[in-house]
Amino acid sequence: MTHEEYQVQIALAARYSDAYYNQDAPEVSDHDYDMLMRHIKEAEAEHPEWVTPDSPTQHVGGEAVLPGTKVEHPVQLMSLDDMFSYDEMRTWYESVGAPTVSVQQKIDGLTIALRYRDGALDQGATRGNGFIGEDVTANAKLLGGIPKKLNIPAAAGVAKHNTLYVRAEVYQPVEIFERVNEELIMAGKKPFANPRNCAAGSLRTKDPNITKERGLCALSFAILLAEGWDDVDERILPRPGVSESKDIALLNALGFDTVESIYCGDGIEQVLEAVSAIGDKRDGLPYWIDGAVVKTDDKELQKVLGNTAKFPKHAAAYKYEADEKETIVRDIMVQVGRTGVLTPVAVFDPVDLAGTTVTRATLHNQGFVNNMRVGIGAKVAVIKSGEIIPKVTRVPEPTETPFKITVCPVCGAKAVAFTDETGADTGVVGCPNLMCPAQRARLIQFYCSRPVMDITGMGPSMVDKLLSAGLINGPLDLYDLKDHAAEIAAMDNMGEKSCKALLAAIEKAKTRPLPQVIKSLCIPNVGASVGKELARRYPDLDTISKLSQDELEAVTGIGPINAASIYRHFQNPANLATLERMKAIGINMKSNTYGKTSSGPLTGLTFVITGTLSGMGRDEAKVLIEANGGKCSGSVSKKTSYLLAGADAGSKLQKATELGVPVIDLDTLHATWNI
Ligand code: NAD
Repeated sequence: MTHEEYQVQIALAARYSDAYYNQDAPEVSDHDYDMLMRHIKEAEAEHPEWVTPDSPTQHVGGEAVLPGTKVEHPVQLMSLDDMFSYDEMRTWYESVGAPTVSVQQKIDGLTIALRYRDGALDQGATRGNGFIGEDVTANAKLLGGIPKKLNIPAAAGVAKHNTLYVRAEVYQPVEIFERVNEELIMAGKKPFANPRNCAAGSLRTKDPNITKERGLCALSFAILLAEGWDDVDERILPRPGVSESKDIALLNALGFDTVESIYCGDGIEQVLEAVSAIGDKRDGLPYWIDGAVVKTDDKELQKVLGNTAKFPKHAAAYKYEADEKETIVRDIMVQVGRTGVLTPVAVFDPVDLAGTTVTRATLHNQGFVNNMRVGIGAKVAVIKSGEIIPKVTRVPEPTETPFKITVCPVCGAKAVAFTDETGADTGVVGCPNLMCPAQRARLIQFYCSRPVMDITGMGPSMVDKLLSAGLINGPLDLYDLKDHAAEIAAMDNMGEKSCKALLAAIEKAKTRPLPQVIKSLCIPNVGASVGKELARRYPDLDTISKLSQDELEAVTGIGPINAASIYRHFQNPANLATLERMKAIGINMKSNTYGKTSSGPLTGLTFVITGTLSGMGRDEAKVLIEANGGKCSGSVSKKTSYLLAGADAGSKLQKATELGVPVIDLDTLHATWNI
């Protein structure tokens, strides 16, 4: 590699790193990024004189970019060196003196540093650049797997005033990640690339409701600092700071969910077996892991070994190989999601992948099928690495004509293309029939979910029970359930008390604010922000249903696509009949924000927009920001909260950099504030 090529690779890594850590929107796969880093490391080993502090091998990726939230870490939060083979693991093991080792799951999420003072959680912060992170305390308090108060027995000998810093990995359970993506696609927004990005977007949001709604969880894996714990009675609690395995045991005792950790005191073969055992289980987990971490167990030895600028020498991450096989597509089935999204699934000759026999894999959407030219008879490469669902990654032998989804396989309705707010094709096609039986159960679940009509007690299994008992067919039938109280009370795990609570929750749903009621209508491309704008501008749903396309388009935050979608919805007599039924039921149709000025997740923030944004004009971006309560200004100053920059940004970008104004792109804007 020449020095020039090396510099190009450094610049590329910096760009990918920024997209991944700061904007939660990776441009390339982790594998491709790891390979790029590998080339950089090889070049630096050959030419140590090229290495500067800017090299990605010399610092952890990421910055604290959210304004007004900086938190200094009491100890540096480091990254981990990667290993890709058992030989590299053997070399590492010898280099640290063949000690006892703890092998842990490497959760594919993002670090959170948690501070407990006097036994109570009082701060949560992201890793940022390792020295300074972002304060996400409000969201940290909503994480699953994290105690808000430590379970310290009175007799344990812990000082009254004590501090404990814990490092944990925040992850998005895979099931929720898939649901969130379905909802984003339906609202015409870009889905998250993987659960890690979803977790990062959900943790770094200013709206704690999002963290809560998305069921974010954390698994703890290290104690960073402990003060006031010197006199711990070891018969009651393990003492912190002695060994990795004791720290994990202590964390468990204090009430944390922890990563799986295997103690290996018997040589490298035992370490390799533990790594392999963790790898074997990864497909069945409700979260993604992207490797196993090997750590010398003894913490005194860890201090002796020391650190590089970026990694501790006592630990390293083994990355599992993605298992990939080629096979022939024999059939393509189409699945219907709750929101009507039609997903093509390839059925192929069986292949053994990561310990299981795989015969089908998602083809994501029609756009993917078209781009990769997948049809029956195509040869495809399938992987199943950390992912639960196998994926088609390459198509070594495409077909001349790609498979085309024409109709909904369940109700036969003609498939329609879903576009985003800008009118651009999302590559997704869907079933437009809201009464399609396949959509019905999911539609009712969506209706009852927290961001929509928020009906407590109406989870998926209750919906299924009511559907199979023939008591409901669609969401509005829920309001007739009061006439069937005896039948419901007699259902499994119900009883009179639960039935009464359920019926009360349904009754309460009638009073939800108008934006939630609008959301419940499932109008394509219409999410919460459009509902809020409509409710601010018009007094009730009746008026909204009679608006012309032009009138709709004139509303802040509503583009031509939303307008067309809303207009079309209310032209359909079936949907108008639904409105009449809603009125008769007594569901709230009136706005309580009519005439009020705009406020939203961006309230208090000032943006300057520059450059060519991908997928949205600057004017549209301005409308989006203002519709969510933000302000737009023409020039960058110290008061600017963010520069929203696209390609070819010029002097404004330079000024923002000089003034230290954080620079974000459109994806970050969407992901951080969920707009
Ligand atoms: P890393 O993710 O490889 O390892 C360090 C992180 O692992 C820690 O910050 C910690 O949060 C986490 N972790 C999870 N379980 C752990 C455990 N049991 N013990 C210790 N740590 C644990 O390092 P990194 O520097 O954060 O990121 C590098 C990785 O991120 C790369 O390997 C790459 O795959 C990915 N990346 C991808 C892109 C992209 O564009 N796709 C860009 C940058 C980085």
